[in-house]
Amino acid sequence: MASYKYRHLLSASEDLVFDHDHPPGDRARLSGIYRCAACGRESVAKEGDTLPNDHSHAVTEGPVRWRLLVYADHRAK
Ligand SMILES: [Zn+2]
Repeated sequence: MASYKYRHLLSASEDLVFDHDHPPGDRARLSGIYRCAACGRESVAKEGDTLPNDHSHAVTEGPVRWRLLVYADHRAK
């Protein structure tokens, strides 16, 4: 599970970008931390990079499905 210390440096969002699952090999739409919806593994991807295929599942877990957990706001100061 991703962790942080300073709550005031993160903001909650209802953006729909957090609601989509992506297979390994899809391009990351945003730079950030992605979490496998099936097993909970987390990975970092930069905008435009392919989402990793760095782990496998037991058959019962189903396919790897990356979901955006936290994205970096490059516009913030
Ligand atoms: Zn997984």
